[in-house]
Amino acid sequence: MALNIRSHLQGGLKFIKEHPQVLFTVFTGAIIIGGFLFTSQQFVSVAKVAQERFERYRLSSLQDAFIEITTQEFNNPQYLSEVIKRLTKTNNTITEFRVVSNDTKYTIIASLKDEEIGTSDIKNENLYTLTFAKPTESFSYDLVENGERIFKVVRAVPDGAGGVYGWVTNITGLSQLDALTTANIQKAYLVLFGVILLIIILFVRHARIIDYATLYARLKEVDQMKDDFVSMASHELRSPLTVIRGYTDLVKSSEGLEEVREEARTKLKKILDQIDTSARQLDSLVADILDVSRLNQGRLAITLKEVNITEIAKTITESFKMPAEQKGLTISFKGPVTAVVSADPDRLRQVIVNLVGNAVKYTPKGNVAVEVQEVGGNVALRVSDTGMGISSEEQKKLFQKFYRIKSEETREITGTGLGLWITAELVKRMDATITVESIKGVGSHFIIVFPKKV
Ligand code: ADP
Repeated sequence: MALNIRSHLQGGLKFIKEHPQVLFTVFTGAIIIGGFLFTSQQFVSVAKVAQERFERYRLSSLQDAFIEITTQEFNNPQYLSEVIKRLTKTNNTITEFRVVSNDTKYTIIASLKDEEIGTSDIKNENLYTLTFAKPTESFSYDLVENGERIFKVVRAVPDGAGGVYGWVTNITGLSQLDALTTANIQKAYLVLFGVILLIIILFVRHARIIDYATLYARLKEVDQMKDDFVSMASHELRSPLTVIRGYTDLVKSSEGLEEVREEARTKLKKILDQIDTSARQLDSLVADILDVSRLNQGRLAITLKEVNITEIAKTITESFKMPAEQKGLTISFKGPVTAVVSADPDRLRQVIVNLVGNAVKYTPKGNVAVEVQEVGGNVALRVSDTGMGISSEEQKKLFQKFYRIKSEETREITGTGLGLWITAELVKRMDATITVESIKGVGSHFIIVFPKKV
């Protein structure tokens, strides 16, 4: 599990390294979404404050109106109660409307609730004394009572001579207001959610564009490889042809060949050998190109059967003894007498020839070793060399079509860059796997593993 998360994280980091523009996208996305969230939050809190302020104004206006209406009748509790009932008729959020007398007991002289009349409201004494500072203003504050948010608004009733007759107290429940605010907030968040969804869709599309950009870069790379191949292939085709034609002309122009002397015969053999080599080069190039087109079109026939890989690998190693020794290399084979794998014998031969051929070709000094091993029922073929080696960056592209390592060392070595691609494709079609282990400047190991036969 932990390993899984780690590998996902590593994969993510690698992706970001390869596509740094993703960081910009994520950053912009986060800023836009954050900006929207912040603005919505601001709107909501401003709206909330405005609504509460409006409610306070409404209540204090109500109190102003009450005092205005009742100012001459303040000693007439019955009249006060009537006015209270009239004013609250259309204000069903008002749960308390009291008129309190400025006597020692803070007696309630009129109220929305008849049963309160005549009782004392001394518990709110502190509140009433507060209003002495500004007897013409309403004092309001909010508090929670029985789980509901309420507003309490208190206003002194001035007696016209600098004192107060008493107080008017109102309580209004805020649950209706809160429900309205919550509904509005929900609507705002719904819209915000839609906007965020749109932004995410936009960024997903953007990410797809990044994919296209990567694909485009890859296509350009492949296109370049193809161009390289076309110029290389025409060169490769032309040079052996020129040699063949030149030597053929030479042989044709030599007279009396049937009676040639020993010296001339040796010379002629050398010439014919060169023609043969060039013709073989052409043949293998054309064969590679044909294999590529067959593999691409799925027309390459593979017939799997049980074959003794040891026998094939040993014979091929021996056939490379001469070219290896000509380069001053030693070549060896090691393996059990028989190791049976399920493969197409011709294609297996082609794969091994390619790997051993490459090992000899890309090894300036040292040795090449071919080994067949049986490990836990699997059969592995290992072709090792002490050659140029392949860096890990190069290894990633090694099995791509037309890929050749371009360096000072490989400049003089001819090739198409098709061999390893064909090898990998053939190995895959024979249900085996191919891997490479290599250190630049030290050497390479190419390993093919044929799975255990069930
Ligand atoms: P080529 O026709 O160029 O040999 P391959 O597909 O067989 O094409 O190999 C691709 C490239 O891989 C070669 O050009 C060479 O640079 C590198 N390569 C292959 N085998 C070896 C090896 N044993 N040691 C070092 N480099 C190798």
